[in-house]
Formats: sequence, structure tokens, C-alpha cells
Amino acid sequence: MKRFSKITTLLLILLAVYWSFKSSMPTYKIDNKASENIFSTDRALAHVEKISKKPHGVGFPAHTEVRSYIVSELEALGLETSIQDGYTAGDWGNLSKAINILARIKGTEDGKALLLLSHYDSSPHSSLGASDAGSGVATILEGLRAFLSEKKQPKNDIIILITDAEELGLNGADLFVNNHPWAKDVGLVLNFEARGSGGPSYMLIETNRGNGKLIEEFTKANPKYPVANSLVYSIYKMLPNDTDLTVFREDGDIEGLNFAFIDDHYDYHTARDNFERLDRNTLAHQGSYLMPLLNYFADSDLNNLKSLNDSIYFNVPYFKLVSYPFEWIWPMFGLAILFFIILLVSGLKKKILQFNELATGFLPLLIVLLINGIVGFYSWTFLRWVYPEYKDILHGFTYNGHTYIAAFVIFSVAICFWVYNKFKKIRTPDLMVAPLFLWLVICGLVSVYLQGASFFIVPVYAVLVSFMVVINQKEPSPYLLLILALPALWIYAPFIKMFPIGLGLKMMVAATLLTTLTFYLLLPIFGFYKNKNRLAFIGFILFVGFMVSAHFNSDFTKENAKPSSLLYVLDADNNTALWATYEHEISDWTSQYIGSDKKIPEKLADKTISSKYASGFTYVSEAPIKEIVFPLIETTIDTVIGNERQLELCITPQRDVNRLEIFTNGIQLNEASVNNIELSEHYLTNRKNGKLITHYISNNDYTELRLTIPKEASLKLTIYEASNDLLSNSQFTIPERPDDIIPMPFVLNDAVLVTKTISFD
Ligand SMILES: [Zn+2]
Repeated sequence: MKRFSKITTLLLILLAVYWSFKSSMPTYKIDNKASENIFSTDRALAHVEKISKKPHGVGFPAHTEVRSYIVSELEALGLETSIQDGYTAGDWGNLSKAINILARIKGTEDGKALLLLSHYDSSPHSSLGASDAGSGVATILEGLRAFLSEKKQPKNDIIILITDAEELGLNGADLFVNNHPWAKDVGLVLNFEARGSGGPSYMLIETNRGNGKLIEEFTKANPKYPVANSLVYSIYKMLPNDTDLTVFREDGDIEGLNFAFIDDHYDYHTARDNFERLDRNTLAHQGSYLMPLLNYFADSDLNNLKSLNDSIYFNVPYFKLVSYPFEWIWPMFGLAILFFIILLVSGLKKKILQFNELATGFLPLLIVLLINGIVGFYSWTFLRWVYPEYKDILHGFTYNGHTYIAAFVIFSVAICFWVYNKFKKIRTPDLMVAPLFLWLVICGLVSVYLQGASFFIVPVYAVLVSFMVVINQKEPSPYLLLILALPALWIYAPFIKMFPIGLGLKMMVAATLLTTLTFYLLLPIFGFYKNKNRLAFIGFILFVGFMVSAHFNSDFTKENAKPSSLLYVLDADNNTALWATYEHEISDWTSQYIGSDKKIPEKLADKTISSKYASGFTYVSEAPIKEIVFPLIETTIDTVIGNERQLELCITPQRDVNRLEIFTNGIQLNEASVNNIELSEHYLTNRKNGKLITHYISNNDYTELRLTIPKEASLKLTIYEASNDLLSNSQFTIPERPDDIIPMPFVLNDAVLVTKTISFD
């Protein structure tokens, strides 16, 4: 290959990678003057700004303000709104009173309705909920406005549901699907969600059956920037993921499409989920889904979206969404094997391929896979050892996480060039046999175990064609080989970035391995590069550069604030008090209370209030006793009927509180209900750590507990009552956090926690 074409192919490869990211979502432009019937990102942003002024989780004052804002905006569109409220406890024993917002646009026909869904509560306690899910609410409000400005009546009814208490236990969705008369009318749900503050929005299907019909209809609706693939769909189906749509699917057997973004994952559920940090392109992307889908599904038949057939699908630049039925998986795999064997035999016959050489080609393949696998696997452990403060980022995705991804991807590529340079004597056709063999093995495995990933065969086909070209031509056109490498670049580049972002840097190994596997598919081009060592050297230099850059951005700053936590825990049984934290590396702010006298908790750790990551307190220190009023606990019923004892307790807060958590000793509970919500037998027998219920309290509401236990059992209840007001409580004088420290998400925080046990012998 000529020097010129080496440089141009390399540049074109980089351009193709860039394009795979760039073309997946729209680029925001100021559009506040866009005509009425067009979705304007600026107009949507105005809603986000209003919604995300203050934390508005259930029980927080701004919760009511945000609800009123959404109601008034829907009414300004000429819609009649209604409110649905009530208690539910969901599958996780998280009791909450949800207050859903509803509206309905009447259609001309009597078929199934389209439901637009998002949630308005933010995650307690400090999230501003700009992305999660202010962006979703704003997308729906602006999309509806544009839709209604056309003044044409849809065929189908359109229901707008903005749920509440999604963050606590999907309570609003639970309430709607199981109790609202409109639920049975719904044929399809479009749900807008966020798990970060930027990046492309992924379309994820939620169905009890096959995705075939939904993919067909989604493709017909023709959104401009579809980002979806059946691999993520397969993985999503295997994980215990929960969104509001899960409730629609499980309890209502209703089909749905999620639109959710996950990049800048470190902002998720934090005080930095704010207006400024919501990526404008991402919001434009949400709008680019909603408008064509709303227009299409408003008039299409929503009665037959269920299907038994599954489709393989993936998005690529220019072709948008490519899909084909599951039935093609095995024929496509079989044909690829056949094609490979024919090429192999003909290559050997023509003496273009040499058996010894192609067998030696397995060596570099395995060496790079091993090195990059090991480096990827231990990278996060290593980084946490060098930077122990990363342990306090519970998302597992650090602020400089993108730099780490770039560093390790480039490192993997450099290793590939370096190792393959040692085997430069092997000619390109021989070198390609091992990778094609490995990729065919992978395709065979996914055809059995992870069928959604079967589109992996598509880039393999393109490279088989390359293989044919290099067998038959002495000097193939590098640009033809480049075109044949495009499917690999376009399909895998986004995946390489997505795994460690969405699942945390602990999944870096997915990025390094996938980079290696993609490199193999580029061997038709790279095989002709004579000076691979030079590229390896540049790669290692860049790796060092990225690591140095990551190092200089590893400190916590105002922009990249350190998560911290502080709680005051009063044990009413022993009349002792503690400061407690979930931090591994104590911040200066926290160390004012948990400093040199800190100790690792013994007893508290096993029964601390539950948190999403089940992380117990890391450190505690002694605290002064404060006068915290304990809730009023009244036993209203205590009788024995037959072999059972029935108990009824009412627990009423005597101060402003946000959360009540009740644990029991290990006895059998025959029946239990809280505020008239029966807890399922399944839940009662599978309780974790003895947790009975978490009640997210609004308006200092009481908790009424009814329990049926065996007559001879002795019951012990441990009660935790928490308020998130440590910083504003008049009993304390805790200073505000400095700018470079934020409350830690996913754990109980800034809380005044009192605990007490009650025994019934
Ligand atoms: Zn959410």
C-alpha cells in the first residue's frame, strides 16, 4: 500500500468513527423562532428550567409547585386535566402516595389509545431532576403544543400521563395501571426517561412477546435519528431493570417504547442534574423521536401491536434502522460459514494462503486478546487503588470517565499494532483467517445464547468480501477495503463507548475487548501497513497523554463536585447519638463532624437504612444528644383469633419527616398491610434484611400497619424515621457545603434519623 493511501485510509477510519457518533443525534441550534407546528428545543428548555429550580422529590415543597406548573401548562394547551392519587407499595415494599397528572385528547375512532409518559418527581433528596425526568416532561409538553397547533383531531385517543413517585417504587405507574379506568384503553406507551444528562437517547422496547410488530411500526413512523439495537434489547430483557414501562408491561400487558439517555452518567440523581448540564442535543434528540412518532401513532392502528415474532435490528449512519426477522439468524450464519470455507479452500488451492502461515496468525490474535482483556479487566481496580476517592462516586463513572475510555481504547489499539508488527511477515490473506474464524465462533455463540446480538454477522460478511478481494487481487484498492470495513466501525464504535458509560468503568473490559475485536475486522487494511510500530508508538504516547489529562482532572472541583454524606442518628433505645457517613474518603466538610475520632460502625452497619447500592455507613463518630421528637406509636388492635395474633399500629410523625422505615425480626408474617395496601405474599417471604416497608412520607402523613403473625411468635419492630433537614433543622448549625461538594446520591442524606425498637411478646 502506498504511503499516501495509508494516511488517507487512517484518516478516513477516524472520520468514520466520528461520523458514527455525530450522525446518531441532532445538533442543537437556537430555534425559539421555529414555526408553531415544529418541536422547538428552546421552547422545551424553558419548561426544563421551570421544573428544575429546586429538588422536587415526593414530600418536598417544590413537588407541589412542579405539579401545579405542569397542570397549568397542559391547561394552557386547552386540555382538561385530572389528578389521580393514592397509595401503592409496588414490588419493593416502597409505600408512597403518588399524585399523577392526566389529560386526554379525544380521537375520532374507538380503537386503542396512545399514551405519552414521563414522571415529574425528582430523586430524593438533592436531585434537581432537569434530565430525570424534567427533559421528558418538557419533551411531551412542547411536542403536544406543536401537535395541537395543527388543529386536526387524531384517530386515536391520546392520553398524557405524568406519573409521580417513579423514583421511589414506580408508584404512580402502579397506581395508574392497576386502578385507573383509562389503563385498559391503552395500546402503546411512549416513555421519556433519563439516566444521565447527555448523549444519544436509546429506544428500548418493552413487551411481553416479540418485538417484530413494534420494530415494523417504529420504522414506519420514521424518526430521523433512531438509536436502537436488539443487543441492548436482549440485555435489557435479562436484567432486573425497572422503569414505569415495566409496570405497564407486567401488570397491564401493554406494549411500550422507552426513550432514555445515559451519557454523563455521573450527574444522575445528583444536585448536578440541573438545567445547565442537560445536553441540548439530547433534548433535541428526544423531540426528534416524539414528533414523528406522535404524528404516526395518533392515526395508526394500535390494536395489533402484539406479535410473536422477534426482529434483529441495529442503527447505522445513513441507513437509519436496519432490521430483519429472527428466522434469518441461522441461514445467515450458515451461509457465512459456507462462504468462509469456499474462500479458504480456493485460497489454499491458489497458494495465496499457506497453512503454516495462517495457523501462526492465531498467535497475535490470542496475544492481543489476552493483554487487552487483562488490562481492561483490572483497569478499574487499579484506578480505584490510585484514586481511592473514586469509591465515593457510586455510579462507577467518574467525571473524567470519558478520558479513561479514550485512553484504554487507544491503549488496546496500540497493543494490537505492536503485537501484529511482530508478525508482519505473515501476509494479509493469511493474517485474516484467524480473526474471521474467531468472529464466526462468536456469531455462532450469540446465535444460541444472545440472539439479539446476531447482527454481528453483518460486519463479518463485509470482511468476508474483503477476504475474497485480497485472495484474488495482488494490490486491492485500499478504499474498497475501507468501505467494506465501515459496517464494523459504524456498528461497534458506539458500543465501545456505551458499555463503560452505562454500566460504569468496571465494564472497561467490554471496551478493550470490543476494540480488539473491531481491530481484527480492520486487518484487511492494517495488514498492508508496513510500519505498525510507529502507530503503536503514537498510540502509547496518546495513552500516556490521556492518562495524564485524566490525572489532572481527577480532583474534585466546583464543576466536578465530590459526593458527600452526613447523617445524625439518634438511638432512642439507648439514648446515644452518632454522626454517620457513607463516604470512603471523608471530605473536609464531613470531617467537621466525622474527623479524627471516626470509627467503623459495628452494629449499625447490618441494619442501616437501605440504599440502592446496599452500602452501609462507612464511618461514624459520637454526637451530642439532641431533642428529636419521636413519632407517636399507638397500638390500636392487639387480639388473638385462633392460631393468629392480629396487630394494628399507627405511627404518626411529630416533626417534619420524609421517610419511615420498618424492619422486623426473623419471624413469619402471615399477612401485612400498610395504609390499607396489602403486601404480597411473595414480597413478605422474600424480604431482604427483614425490611417490612419504606414509607416515603408526604405532608407528615401517618403510617398504619396491620400485621397477622403466629400466636406464639414474639415480634420485634425496628423503626427508623428520617427527615432530610439536617442542614435546615434549628437544632443543628451545620454549614452549607462548599461549591466543590455535593450530597451523595442513592443513599439517605442530610438526614436526621431516629431509631427505636418495639417488642410484642
Ligand atoms: Zn427517571
